[in-house]
This record gives sequence, structure tokens and C-alpha cells, in this order.
Amino acid sequence: MSLDEFGLIQRIAARTRARTDIALGIGDDAALLQVPDGQQLVVTADTLNAGVHFPHETPPADIGWKALAVNLSDLAAMGAQPAWCTLALSLPAADPDWIEAFADGFFALADAHGIALIGGDTTRGPLSISITAMGWVPAGEALRRDGAQPGDDVWVTGVPGEAALALALWQQGRLEVRAPAGEAALEQLRLRLARPTPRVAAGLVLRGLASSAVDISDGLLADLQHICQRSGVAATLELPQLPVSAAAEALQELALFQQLRVGGGDDYELCFTAPASQREQVRSAMAAVDTAVTRIGQIQAGAGMTLRDASGDAAEPARLGYNHFSPPR
Ligand code: ADP
Ligand code: MG
Repeated sequence: MSLDEFGLIQRIAARTRARTDIALGIGDDAALLQVPDGQQLVVTADTLNAGVHFPHETPPADIGWKALAVNLSDLAAMGAQPAWCTLALSLPAADPDWIEAFADGFFALADAHGIALIGGDTTRGPLSISITAMGWVPAGEALRRDGAQPGDDVWVTGVPGEAALALALWQQGRLEVRAPAGEAALEQLRLRLARPTPRVAAGLVLRGLASSAVDISDGLLADLQHICQRSGVAATLELPQLPVSAAAEALQELALFQQLRVGGGDDYELCFTAPASQREQVRSAMAAVDTAVTRIGQIQAGAGMTLRDASGDAAEPARLGYNHFSPPR
């Protein structure tokens, strides 16, 4: 059975939740939303294109999860409380099974964060998913890229590089994106790529604590560089302090992991800075939200990035990060 446009919209609309701050949701020409008093609206958009952002054979439930996750990650990096989202879908066919599976992944994550779908657009074309996510933050309290100060520590959540390692293993034909892997370490890596965890709770507790924050979508180095450029500062990354992937170790792929961890994208971890005087506060705030965190470097006056290896020497990164309009170096 195939569905028309309105059948498709109905399938999706039926799955969303109600919220008291939605005066009018799906069904009219536009939604009406109430931002609480004293809060600033935070808005972000991200698109996933088949074959560019995910392999064509990716299961629809994983696509649904990830399309929302990359947007929630941007809200997390602002310290925002997620509230609403829109979904613009371009679909090659009106396949109800595909839509239901996509919705399973999408709403599993949406419901975990209490976020409601309040509108969107449905068209025929190459598979592409565009989401606009909205949330709020108390006025003036957002985490921004431009607040890093000389002397601040640089921190990162989770284990950057695992998603890029999963992608590399898929490109080598050693990891399937279509189905769970039998081997625990491979499955852990597949999930890092297919079902990233947006660090929403971490972003919320970093308000008033972090001096700047960014989410790692393009690679640790490239995204930390965004903080440096916006803040007008330099940074040093201590390579021996970066978190090590237990999965990479189990698969004896530490060398490949180490090549990928500063330049590989798609992790959706948070990289942030905080005054050195706040070290214990950062650790206990992250422990309270059950998020692994590692101190990986320092901010200095000046410009540019330095990577230091175990000998204290400056080391060159293998790849700076992902950029859609320039080939990887
Ligand atoms: P219009 O033609 O006025 O833009 P549509 O017929 O495209 O309206 O959409 C009707 C309603 O369904 C609107 O509320 C719109 O936001 C919603 N909608 C359309 N596609 C989606 C989608 N993929 N997800 C959620 N809501 C959708
Ligand atoms: Mg209209």
C-alpha cells in the first residue's frame, strides 16, 4: 500500500505528544508556540542527505534518531532546554513501513527529551531529512562559542573519534550499518555512528559554569577551532590526555582510532571551556548527569591550535575536520 501526502503526514502527526506551550500544533498553516517569560528562544536547523550524511542502506529507525539527535546536539551546545521541532521530509516513495520505522527512531529520542513535533513539510524527491529544533534558555545564559578566556581548561564529553572509527570500519567492509553487530565492541561503535547521544543534560548543567561550548560534528580540532576563532584565543590540546576508546582497544584498532579522533566528525559530544578554578565543579556537574568528561587542554592568548604529544612536542593532525565543500586532506 502506498500513501498520499496527507496519509504520510497523518502517520507522523499521530505519534507526537501534546505540550501545554503549544497553542496550535500540526494541522494549520503554521504552529503557535508560547515561549515562557524570561526565556530566549533558541533555534537550530540541520539536514541529513542520504549518501552524504548516512549510507543509503542505513535502517530508517536509525535515520530518524540521528536526524533529531544532530539537532538536539546543537541545542545542548547552547545550554538550551529542548521543546519543539519541525520535520521537512523529502522522500523517494510514500512507503508506510519506512515511515513507521523512521518514526520509531525519531520519536524514541523525541519522547526521551519531551520534545514535540509541531509541523513540517512532506515532498517527493531524493531522501533528505531537514529538522528545525527549538528550545529555550534563560535570557543571557546561553553557552556560546565566544566566551573562552586565556587560562581556561578545555574539556570534552564522551570519546570523540568512535563515530569516525565506525565509519572507517564500514568503508573497509568490516562493519554493517544495516543490522546489530554480533561482536560487542563493533556494536558499540555502530551505535556511536547510528544513534549518537545528544548531551542535552550536560549542556543544561554547564550553564553558568562553562565559558564557551560547541558540539563536535565536524571533528574535535575543527570545532575547538571555532571556539578559538570566535573567542579570539589560542588552544593547546594534550593528545595523551584524550579519552581512549575501549572498543577500539578491544578490536586492536587503536592506531586507526588515534588518527581519527581529532579530525573525525559525527561524534556529537560537547567540547567546552571553563575556568581552571571550576575543575571540581565541572567534574561533579558532569557526574550528576552521568556524563563522562575529560580535561584535554588549555586556552591561551593568541591565535591557532597546538597539539602536543607525549614527548611535549608539537604534533601535526592527520586531518583537520569535515568540510562539505573541500575534499579531506
Ligand atoms: P501547507 O501546504 O499550508 O504548507 P501542508 O499541507 O504542507 O501545509 O501541511 C499541513 C500540516 O501538516 C501543517 O501543519 C504542516 O506543518 C504539517 N506537516 C507537513 N509535513 C509534515 C511532517 N513531515 N512532519 C510534521 N508535520 C508536517
Ligand atoms: Mg498553508
